[in-house]
Amino acid sequence: MDQENWNYFGWEGISFLKPKEWEPSQLESDKKKGYVVFDDGVVCRLQLRWQEAKGEADLDRIVDRQVKKLEKANEDSLQKPKIKDYKTKTLQGKRLRFEIEGIETCYYILQCSQCKRVVLLGVFGAEGEKLGDLGGNIARSLMDHPEGEKVMWAAFGFRFSVPLEFSLENHNLRSGDLRFEFSADKSRVVFHRLSVANVLLKNEKLGNWVETYVTDIYDIVGKLEVAAFEGKHSESVGVEGQVPGRVKFITKKPFYAFFWVCEKENGIYGVSQTGNDEKWRPENMMKEVECH
Ligand SMILES: [Zn+2]
Ligand SMILES: [Zn+2]
Repeated sequence: MDQENWNYFGWEGISFLKPKEWEPSQLESDKKKGYVVFDDGVVCRLQLRWQEAKGEADLDRIVDRQVKKLEKANEDSLQKPKIKDYKTKTLQGKRLRFEIEGIETCYYILQCSQCKRVVLLGVFGAEGEKLGDLGGNIARSLMDHPEGEKVMWAAFGFRFSVPLEFSLENHNLRSGDLRFEFSADKSRVVFHRLSVANVLLKNEKLGNWVETYVTDIYDIVGKLEVAAFEGKHSESVGVEGQVPGRVKFITKKPFYAFFWVCEKENGIYGVSQTGNDEKWRPENMMKEVECH
């Protein structure tokens, strides 16, 4: 497995390593269940489905259901699936792996003994390509719940961790302007990554660009304070301002943000916070962002 060309996908506590160019083309999720389809820019290569469960799930029934779906999609009766257990060092619980001869498809189905989550992961070969151990490499890196006190989120090469109490409220995966919005206590915390920093900034200073960007997407009232900071990156700015509070035009809430340019990744990264909770300030949360 060539680590250089692999990166993480992480969502609602599920994470795994996958080839870099495989990214979500369809994503539906809430706290309890989710469905993500990844393509390699041409065809679908990976499918992920998860669901909360209270009791023990019938994995064999899930296999049957999946085989029926495959038969429908292939408009043909398929060979019997070869079902095996599969082992990983990290996952506890029931696990099955099945493949079907004649179509380069491999499925991993598991139920975690700790969190009871049921996860289905399907990996598909591109036309004329042998799947080999591609599925195995992905499945071995799979985690079905977060370890420790933090949850890793990752998509389109943007990776960061948030505390367990954060809850995803909104996201924007339009490539070029990635945004993940979380609620935590009385705050909203948003993680930003914009690609092609050199094109976005041209000859503009980061501070000016951030002022326009922040004003465009947040309901800022009054003046924004933007100050340059010295740091690991060549340009970083801190922002302070206000947004409307619960009673519009009467109450206000503080707004804080921290943005920086990562020249190595040619991206603009940022974290913003609406609300008073001191522990979720951008200067703390920005340490959780992996850029280079
Ligand atoms: Zn689990
Ligand atoms: Zn960086």
